[in-house]
Amino acid sequence: MESNDDLVKRRRFGEHLSAGARQLGLGLLDPLYPPTCLNCEAPLATPDTLCAACFAQLRPISDPLCPRLGLPFAADIGPDAISAEAMADPPPFGRARAAVVYDEIAGTLVSRLKYGDRPELARFCARLMAGAGHELWQGGPVLVPVPLHPARQWSRRYNQSAELALALGKLTGLAVDTSLVRRARKTRQQVGLSGEGRQRNVAGAFAAHAEVLVRAAGRRVVLVDDVYTTGATTKAVTRTLLRAGVEAVDVMTFARVVIGADMPI
Ligand SMILES: [Zn+2]
Repeated sequence: MESNDDLVKRRRFGEHLSAGARQLGLGLLDPLYPPTCLNCEAPLATPDTLCAACFAQLRPISDPLCPRLGLPFAADIGPDAISAEAMADPPPFGRARAAVVYDEIAGTLVSRLKYGDRPELARFCARLMAGAGHELWQGGPVLVPVPLHPARQWSRRYNQSAELALALGKLTGLAVDTSLVRRARKTRQQVGLSGEGRQRNVAGAFAAHAEVLVRAAGRRVVLVDDVYTTGATTKAVTRTLLRAGVEAVDVMTFARVVIGADMPI
């Protein structure tokens, strides 16, 4: 079976050919790469979306949910009820929201977004995030992507969180600040680490911009990332911003791991 990575590489090769052809004005080559579903590659009339069958398999996260962690509740247990997770381990951020449950299809989209160099995919994800995060946009917060270490960004050429934040900024009209916080220390990738290992891995890894108080004066920050897994990364960035004097931080991700749902991590 072809792995996600193989699919991504094959698509990238096709896209590079196609983009190169466009730059040369050879639009005639484009029909070789007709729009396909971002998940199953079924042919589509419009590019950069999912076919109806795959779209129906995405699991949007909507009310009722935990107001702090954004975890979906099976039943409405009242407007102020928070999840057991949020009670046991209160997060440093105010509210976290995600557009969809992290499952197989969401995982494919995130993997292609991360390694596939596809800004169009960021626009698709951002459309879902703009709706799911509507409560967070009130009061005109500034959108701040979770940063990559410069070395990793250089090798990947691309910070998927920044692409999501920029696409979300265009859709919501909110300001985006891609350098309000940076990675001061290179960390190993979180994949494969336990919850506690993830926390240790990112502790002290971030630094706020020296002018953070000027640039975020009187405004909340909404951190933007692709996936919320244990929250270790977003919590570490939140603590960095709060220590630097930012008043409040919320978190918006495209997908969220929900315990009990399938997790292809
Ligand atoms: Zn499909």
